[in-house]
Amino acid sequence: MTHPAQPKASHFINGEYVEDTAGTPIPVIYAATGEQIATVYAATPAIVEQALSTAKAAQKEWAKMTGTERGRVLRRAADIMRERNHDLSVLETYDTGKPLQETLVADATSGADALEYFGGLAASLTGEHIPLGEDWVYTKREALGLCVGIGAWNYPTQIACWKGAPALACGNSMVFKPSETTPLCALKVAEILIEAGAPAGVFNVVQGMGEVGGALVTDPRVDKVSLTGSVPTGKKVYAAAAEGMKHVTMELGGKSPLIIFDDADIDNAVGGAINGNFYSSGQVCSNGTRVFVQKGIKEKFLARLAERTGNAILGDPMDEATSFGPMVTENQMNIVLGYIEKGKEEGARLICGGARANMDGYYIQPTVFADVTDEMTIAREEIFGPVMSVLDFDTEEEVVARANDTEFGLSAGVFTKNFTRAHRVIGNLEAGSCFINSYNDAPVEAPFGGVKASGVGRENSKEAIKHFSQVKSVYVRMGDVEAAF
Ligand code: NDP
Repeated sequence: MTHPAQPKASHFINGEYVEDTAGTPIPVIYAATGEQIATVYAATPAIVEQALSTAKAAQKEWAKMTGTERGRVLRRAADIMRERNHDLSVLETYDTGKPLQETLVADATSGADALEYFGGLAASLTGEHIPLGEDWVYTKREALGLCVGIGAWNYPTQIACWKGAPALACGNSMVFKPSETTPLCALKVAEILIEAGAPAGVFNVVQGMGEVGGALVTDPRVDKVSLTGSVPTGKKVYAAAAEGMKHVTMELGGKSPLIIFDDADIDNAVGGAINGNFYSSGQVCSNGTRVFVQKGIKEKFLARLAERTGNAILGDPMDEATSFGPMVTENQMNIVLGYIEKGKEEGARLICGGARANMDGYYIQPTVFADVTDEMTIAREEIFGPVMSVLDFDTEEEVVARANDTEFGLSAGVFTKNFTRAHRVIGNLEAGSCFINSYNDAPVEAPFGGVKASGVGRENSKEAIKHFSQVKSVYVRMGDVEAAF
């Protein structure tokens, strides 16, 4: 019997499901059991062509609609996503392995927030009038054209919506390629947009590995590329986009610092560290994986952290009591286990976890290392799994310098009751998305994105509009034209 997660076909182009079994088969594996639940086929060159030509043709008419009309479509799509939240969350759990306890509140709901927010903004995207005596200049905020979205595997619904919603609000069309690991959810986003009234061809989904992404990025019809992925992929995609002078948004990896001063509320700080390391089994780009704890509270912090981490419920992700799921793939599990071994070898002190969980599926125990030093591999490289490194510090000046000593700059957090210090420290940290006495909140109203190697551009908020539109400036002369000859 066909598994309920199996989509009708692999791709969604021009308002309908499209199949081409000549492409490489991509098995979809449910991470909680290792069982194959669906198959999709990578896009062949013919599918890529169909998606790009359709999206190119659909864009002009979509951009001619009023912002109010475009916004209405997005807001209807948001309503449909909310109505179907349960089914979409189950699918997200099949796609990623993340527990339903999370997917019910963080995926389709976050996607719906983006559709609603950018739907609301669509009608207000205007230019300015600049008076110059009798003459004037007016500006128009115009669409970029055909945009490509490429997603990572940790938030397949959210990433499709965080890219698709602002792109469509501005009058662009999009071809979206999900990660080959999690190909299912973006298809549902495309289906819902059509049901909400989006013209066929405005939002298309094609499956495939890096080559399909590469074919999309290098096509001369494409005006913008928005990637969520790792820094090495980001460098390749950015370079390929530069060749065609295309706009880019790069949402890449991180190794973010979470700084806990000794006047912090310990339970809140432990909660922040748990949210910033163990949500989605640690597969979150903005995670605060370098937890700097001021020496005075170190042992108390570690004791409370170990106690609360012991309360994590590993189990069937479809059981809403489960609070900690498997890694997305066997490969990712092995990468993370490799880092855990490195942590042990390099002399970090294991506080809890430290091994694969004794159950089916790709589960790793939530792991905390203490006495981690700046040069250890686990403190320098993005692990993308449930491995928290706790480092000690003495002074504010020292911790800020150490926190910034990394190529990454996605996020940063600080826990303290001294607000002057909190703002001063955040002001000195090189990061794009920061938190005071909290960690990893990502409301659509707030800009999200990194500095340094963690990325270029911002998603969400009004900032995203700037990255999916461009300004045309028009000089209007009221009198005669003077010329030298
Ligand atoms: P990858 O960088 O491996 O892949 C990202 C996407 O790019 C995938 O769809 C991938 O396809 C595609 N891709 C790979 N090579 C190319 C290429 N040459 N041209 C075009 N597309 C290509 O990232 P992961 O999927 O492993 O995701 C984990 C990473 O994503 C982590 O580093 C994480 O920090 C980052 N991330 C960043 C976020 C942010 O907002 N800043 C949010 C979430 C994750 P395929 O995988 O199918 O081969």
